[in-house]
This record gives sequence, structure tokens and C-alpha cells, in this order.
Amino acid sequence: MSSQAPTALHILEHVFGYTAFRGEQQAIVEHVAAGGDALVLMPTGGGKSLCFQVPALMREGTAVVVSPLIALMQDQVSALVEAGVKAAFLNSSLDTESARAVERALYDGSLDLLYVAPERLMTPRFLDQLDHLRDTHRLALFAIDEAHCVSQWGHDFRPEYLQLSILPERYPSIPRIALTATADRQTREEIANRLRLNDARRFVSSFDRPNIRYTIVDKDDPRRQLLGFIRDEYPTEAGIVYCLSRRKVEETAAWLQEHGLKALPYHAGLPQEVRAEHQTRFLREDGLIMVATIAFGMGIDKPDVRFVAHLDLPRSIEGYYQETGRAGRDGQTAQAWMAWGAQDVVQQRRMIDESEGSEEFKRLARNRLDVLVGLVEATTCRRQHLLAYFGEAAEPCGNCDNCLHPPQTWDATEAARKALSCVYRTGQRYGAGHLIDVLRGDATEKVSERGHDSISTFGIGSDLDEKRWRTVFRQLVARELLSVDHERYNALMLTDLARPLLRGESSFLLRLAPEKARNRSRRSTA
Ligand code: ADP
Ligand code: ZN
Repeated sequence: MSSQAPTALHILEHVFGYTAFRGEQQAIVEHVAAGGDALVLMPTGGGKSLCFQVPALMREGTAVVVSPLIALMQDQVSALVEAGVKAAFLNSSLDTESARAVERALYDGSLDLLYVAPERLMTPRFLDQLDHLRDTHRLALFAIDEAHCVSQWGHDFRPEYLQLSILPERYPSIPRIALTATADRQTREEIANRLRLNDARRFVSSFDRPNIRYTIVDKDDPRRQLLGFIRDEYPTEAGIVYCLSRRKVEETAAWLQEHGLKALPYHAGLPQEVRAEHQTRFLREDGLIMVATIAFGMGIDKPDVRFVAHLDLPRSIEGYYQETGRAGRDGQTAQAWMAWGAQDVVQQRRMIDESEGSEEFKRLARNRLDVLVGLVEATTCRRQHLLAYFGEAAEPCGNCDNCLHPPQTWDATEAARKALSCVYRTGQRYGAGHLIDVLRGDATEKVSERGHDSISTFGIGSDLDEKRWRTVFRQLVARELLSVDHERYNALMLTDLARPLLRGESSFLLRLAPEKARNRSRRSTA
């Protein structure tokens, strides 16, 4: 960089019109501008784009941004062009002539930023052009957006992302920055390995949304519970209610209207004009409740959404985090409220079993569901659980239902210890289903074949039914005493966190099932 190179702050102010960097942005910008590699984990809305856009303008030449989403590419490029930046994109939406024009500009070195789809980047033709830029010192950096797409275990897997590992081989001196908003610990390592970013500096922003209160209630009469929640807490405020099916969206919206609330439906089955109208009304009018499927919310930036309610289980923890994250963007107090029942889990598991996907896909989907159920069954701070999923340690928050009203529990220490020792005795290579068969003394074919009917843990858990055991295993995973090996059929393995429990130094409490909890409190008040 020459001494005349504009500073990061100068660009931030004069190109983007902002007065200050947020959070880790400045550190990231400076690291990449100076030629360093970076792996950036930042929640949605955290401001990832500036992390590569500013160094792109600080460094000589063109920055190449890999992005899997055509719509996002177009949005970002128009915003940049509007701000006077020489930006363009190459993807399948361009006709041949426009694509050629972009390629010419790239070759001339007259672009600051070029967004490309990964499959385009990997073509010999495009790589030739990059070689030319490299040889003339006009390749500024590579940014890999939505980097979790490289993870085979995630829902957004893009095989072309795997090929991005050639970038450091072919362009070893060009800095690379990979960014994502969704990556649990395992995915994070996978990104680093597959993109060859093991030595990259990691920037992990907090995913905490301290102004959101998390509440998860047991389903009883869910619509009434929802109505009660809204009437008690936010009778005149804007909110979003998520349901799984279109029909339920319509029914719930109609029902809320009948009960005097301003509610509108939104799902992909409604005509385009209706969707657009409802969305505009939601953004402009005060106190509207949008009842929606997950089709609603992407790219919606309404700061004063006071609550997000779920009448059905979301599909994953990431989904839950993204959806609830639409509440309280203005920083004022807000609530994430969900009603769930064991029936939801059964239903979703059935949907997975009956789906078209491969066995592999189904196993992953089941695992994602289990992780989410781990959160709804938690007996301790919800926020701690949510943040732990993103690899972040936190103290109990004092602002979730479990912190405010600790749930009734049963002592599962003995059961958990049996489960852990069964994992150990069978060599840490089986999933929960088989382990439960062993614990319950069920001599299935697989059990006898492996000789597990003659080990010491065979049958020591016949006192609990399968459902209870499932909960025990789910919570052992949720609390990270066990880890799941996706590459080996969801085999469970002990982690270091299992030691204190095995040594008898800690206890393990589980939430009491709702009917039991109700009976118990009835008894105690009688
Ligand atoms: P992400 O990609 O992490 O979801 P974006 O890069 O789209 O987030 O940024 C989210 C919003 O925050 C955008 O409207 C962006 O203009 C704004 N933003 C980002 N950084 C800053 C900043 N330093 N100052 C003010 N606004 C910012
Ligand atoms: Zn809490």
C-alpha cells in the first residue's frame, strides 16, 4: 500500500456515509487491508459487507467476492454503484453481451469489486482472467460470503464451494476473508479446513441479543396461549407469528382478527400483490401482527418488532435464532415466545422420515431437530444454550423464562451416568438408538451381533422408557457431555465435559414433563 492509500475511516465516511465502525469491523478491515486472511463470524445484520468492501477499496486492484445468492449480489452491487464504487457482478442472470462487458472491465482492471457465483469463478476462462490480474498485481483480495455453504452438514451446502480451496494454491499472496452468520463450532472448523483458512485470524462477534427475552411454554391450547401473551404484553405493538403450514397461517391470522387484533397472513401461496401489500403495511403501519411461514422475514428490516412468536417448532437452532432475531432491532426490550409440545417433535420427525431425502440427509435433519429440542427441554438459561451453540460462553442471563422462573426438574444423574458409561463400553461408535437398546436390555439383532448383550451396561436402564432415554441423550448432547460424529452415522462420543459427571462430581437435572409438573404443583398446592 502506498502512503497515499486512503484510510479505512476515510472510506467509511466518504463512500459509505457512516461515521464509525461497529464492533469488530475496524480490526477486520485493517487486518485484511494489510494482507491478512480472516474468518469472520458475525450475526445477520452485524455489518459483514463492509468488512470486505472497505479493504477492497483500500487495496490496489479488484476484489473478487464469491456469493451464492444472485439476489443478494444484485442488491449489494446496486448499492455500491450508487455510492460511486466501480462494482459489477457475473452470474447466470446476465446475457452474454453484458457478461462480456463485465469481463472486459475486469481485464482492464477498472473494477473495484466483482461479485461472482462460485461455479463461475471455477471456470478455466475466469481463472485465466484472474491469473492475468494476479500477474499485473491488480488482484486485491478474495471475499467468500456465506462461507458455511462449504459445510456438507449444513442446509445450504454448495458443492462448488469445496473447489474454493484452490484459491490459496493458485493465488498464495492474495488475502482471503471468509464470512458467515451461521456456524456452530463444528461447522467453523469445517470452514477453516475446507477453505484452507486454518491460519487465518478469527473474528467472532457476539451473537447475544440481550434485549430479547426468551420464553418457551408447553403447548396446551396454543392459540389461546398466544392471544393471552399478546394481550397481556403487547396489545398494540408490531410482531411476527410463525407457523409451519400455510393453512395454519391463514387460520391463525383470521382468529386473531376475530379477537380484535390487527393481524395479516403471509405465505408463498398468496398472490404476489397480496404479499407485497401485506409486507408494506407491516412496515408502515403501527402495531400490525404478521402471521407467516418462514417465507416472511428475509431482508425485512423493521426496527420496532416487539415480539416474535412461534406456534410450531422451527426447523433448527439457526432458524430459531434468525427468526427471533427479527425482534427488537431497535435495541428496546422485545420477546421471543414459543409454544411447543412433544407432539411437534413427533410430527417433525415423521415429516423427516417420510421426506424424499437420502438417508444421510435424514440423519442430519434428525440431528438438527434434536439439537433444537435440546433447547426447548433445557432447564437452565436459554440464552446460555443458544449462545453455546454458536460457541459462545455466557453467564445465566436473568432475562429468560428459565432464569426468571426455574422449571421443575427430576434428578437424572444416575441415568446420565449409565448412558455415558454405555457409550464408553461400546467403544464410542454408536448412535442413541442402539445405545438405548443396550441400556434397556433389548437384545436386538445388532445388539447380539456386536456382543453388547454381554457387557456390564446391558439392561441397567430398563427402569426408564425409550422416550426418557431419548431425552437423556438429547440433553447430554445439548450440554456437550457427548458430541456427535456426523461422519460416522451420528455416533456419540464422550467429551471432557463428561468427566465430572462420571466421577460423581456433578449432577444432571432434566425438565419434568408438563403433565407431571402440573400434577406435582396441583398436589403441592392442595
Ligand atoms: P450482514 O451482512 O452482516 O447481515 P450488512 O453488511 O448487510 O450485514 O449490514 C447490515 C446493516 O448495517 C446495513 O444496513 C449496513 O448499511 C449497516 N451498517 C453496517 N456497518 C455499519 C456502520 N459501521 N455504521 C452504520 N451502519 C452500518
Ligand atoms: Zn437466562
